[in-house]
Amino acid sequence: MKSKLMSLLAALSLSTLAVPAIAEDAHPNMPFGAKALDIYRTVIEFKSTAEHGETPAMARYLADQFRDGGFADDDIFLFEIGNAAGLIVRYHGDGTSGKAPVSISAHMDVVEANPADWVRDPFKLTEEDGYFFARGAADDKLGVVATTVAFLRLKAEGWVPNRDLIIAFSGDEETGMLTTRALVQDHLALTNSEFVLNADSGGATLPDGGGRPVSFAMQAAEKTYATWQLTITNPGGHSSRPRNDNAIYELADALIKIREFKFPVRANELTRRYFKFTGERTPGPKGEAMQAFAADPTDADAVQVLRADPGIVGTTGTTCVATMLAGGHAENALPQSATATVNCRIFPGEGVAATEATLRDVVGNDAVEFNMISNPTETDPSPLREDVLAALQKAVDNKFPGLEIVPYMSSGGTDGMHFRAAGIPSYGVNGGYSKAGDTFAHGLNERILQQSFYDNLAHWYVLLKAIAGDS
Ligand SMILES: [Zn+2]
Repeated sequence: MKSKLMSLLAALSLSTLAVPAIAEDAHPNMPFGAKALDIYRTVIEFKSTAEHGETPAMARYLADQFRDGGFADDDIFLFEIGNAAGLIVRYHGDGTSGKAPVSISAHMDVVEANPADWVRDPFKLTEEDGYFFARGAADDKLGVVATTVAFLRLKAEGWVPNRDLIIAFSGDEETGMLTTRALVQDHLALTNSEFVLNADSGGATLPDGGGRPVSFAMQAAEKTYATWQLTITNPGGHSSRPRNDNAIYELADALIKIREFKFPVRANELTRRYFKFTGERTPGPKGEAMQAFAADPTDADAVQVLRADPGIVGTTGTTCVATMLAGGHAENALPQSATATVNCRIFPGEGVAATEATLRDVVGNDAVEFNMISNPTETDPSPLREDVLAALQKAVDNKFPGLEIVPYMSSGGTDGMHFRAAGIPSYGVNGGYSKAGDTFAHGLNERILQQSFYDNLAHWYVLLKAIAGDS
């Protein structure tokens, strides 16, 4: 894999010598720009969370958009699982390439948002200071809208791809991922493809002071997502008669041990290559640490610098963190139970069972019950493909001519893992350009630069034409 990767990167560097002309504009008045904003505003207003359950309604709305855009009923397939939904839309090619279809994935659901915590209504699109604010503004209604609109625009222009393109939207990526599994298991006949382009990851970080990003990141691997509930039970009693055994205290002790524990440093060919490339282009101690780590992942000083950065720590090994807490039943009673949720992102190859064993060791208290509450899918990195890299380069060149693409491993779990597990390589290639300080996905006041919204429309338009056409 090393030599192939190196030659691909060398080829990419060469391609920067011949920079193509800017092809596609990206602004509110671009073709389908107004339509895109209308769809974006509408899908943001669907509370497509696990709790509110409006994902099926959003899927029906999108299906209508495709129908109105000229896609046949037979090529639009919507399915529901619980209060989530999946949507599959086939864009028929003329088959002249002789190649298998390409799928495009994104997720319609969003993480829950409590309006009381937000400055602005999370389920209304707010335009302010050059940004779009809303839950899902970035993750991942940005990707849903850009890919949907690319289909609509290309169809309206009469473009016929040389291979089938398939939209495969999931509807519970942020929670159970049942619809994602269904896309590649129950509905594989509709989604089977040579590879999948994922609109839920990929992109570049814009320097705060303006100018060009260091590189464009393409997700080609991801860590394994696994969540445990840790529970302590206790007979409880009257709070006027406290004892040393106390479910809340014991659980707190366990969590503090997990906080203090650092999983061993891990590296693979992809992450070392990523750190070398990015380090050479990152100024200061961080860039030096990246290069030192790439050369020698046991370099303790480099590890310390990299692990101090929340955006980087996940690339250096497995991480686990407490995310939820519940306990007790009355203010004047000793707690009968206390439960914490611990979410882990496991480095490829480390293993879910081994991670649980490590956590049990770290906690060192047999009274703590471990219950796996996620359904982990472990996958290997996707092979780097010249056709994907070349097509993506065209889309990237449209915004930043010659900007180099760096494959990376993502620390978050995406739909890509289920495609990978089904034998379909997945590449995170969304044209998400954002400033380092703007990453509020899953958190409060999620936002995206307005310009980036339009850039991503142009990005997918160019990318799909390149992947299934001559240009
Ligand atoms: Zn997402």
